[in-house]
Amino acid sequence: MIIFKQIAPLVKKLHQLKNEGKSIGFVPTMGALHNGHLSLIDHSRTVADVTVCSIFVNPAQFNDKADFDRYPATPEQDILLLEKEKTDIVFLPGVHEIYPNGFISNLSWSPNHLENILEGYYRPGHFRGVCMVMHRLLSIVEPDELFMGQKDYQQCMVVKSLIDHFFLPVHINIVATQRETSGLAMSSRNMRLSATAKLNASGIYRALLFIKENISDLPFEELKHHAQEIITNAGFQKTDYVAICDAATLLPVTENSPSVKKVALAAAFLDGVRLIDNMLI
Ligand code: AMP
Repeated sequence: MIIFKQIAPLVKKLHQLKNEGKSIGFVPTMGALHNGHLSLIDHSRTVADVTVCSIFVNPAQFNDKADFDRYPATPEQDILLLEKEKTDIVFLPGVHEIYPNGFISNLSWSPNHLENILEGYYRPGHFRGVCMVMHRLLSIVEPDELFMGQKDYQQCMVVKSLIDHFFLPVHINIVATQRETSGLAMSSRNMRLSATAKLNASGIYRALLFIKENISDLPFEELKHHAQEIITNAGFQKTDYVAICDAATLLPVTENSPSVKKVALAAAFLDGVRLIDNMLI
């Protein structure tokens, strides 16, 4: 495994590999790695010849500075995990490497309505930051295959529209959410939960499962109301949203038309930690 902190030598190495006819798989992360991230690496290894993983906690996508300051970092452990997973290349850039001119975006493009709904509504500016960093990382690595987790469903849609808009020659692979046995979606943020809170945190999964299992039997408002109750009864202090949306557009759906593929999504706070999850229906 080779570790690069600077762009120039990384790009040189990648050009060499591409000239040898090797395909490049790319897994962007913010570190504090868990099995969810490792499943993306695994997928990349089965699809591409060379797997590149980046670890960069992108300040531009945090609307809340305290959340950025508290974001977990486990660099030594991350390197060990990536080595064990047979990752070929790790990219660990500093902020200046990614944003040499500060956070001034030269991206005069935004992902339209996706920027302002659900995560975008509750985290203003978040997806602008995601687009800035993804555009930069994709320009540096120029991968053939990109691997992202369904766990961040809206982020996957935003990045898809970024790729489409700029005609980036990369294929996006969406990998299923890895969960704890309780159903809780694995997340770096779970590290900030106490053992008890971690057990209660599966409430968000149970709420989404309730929607999925009862979608044909109950009106949508009732489904969302019950789901919200499950989250509150699990000990979550605040729910940002429980939503049932068109899986292709993320616009809200109000009735169970069988021709529309749907996704249920939720975001809620447990002990000051904001958790998100979603489930295709
Ligand atoms: P993050 O480090 O949280 O920015 O996540 C990096 C990538 O890993 C993103 O594409 C996430 O969607 C993905 N990811 C995070 N958690 C999971 C999970 N539990 N299962 C699968 N992929 C995940």
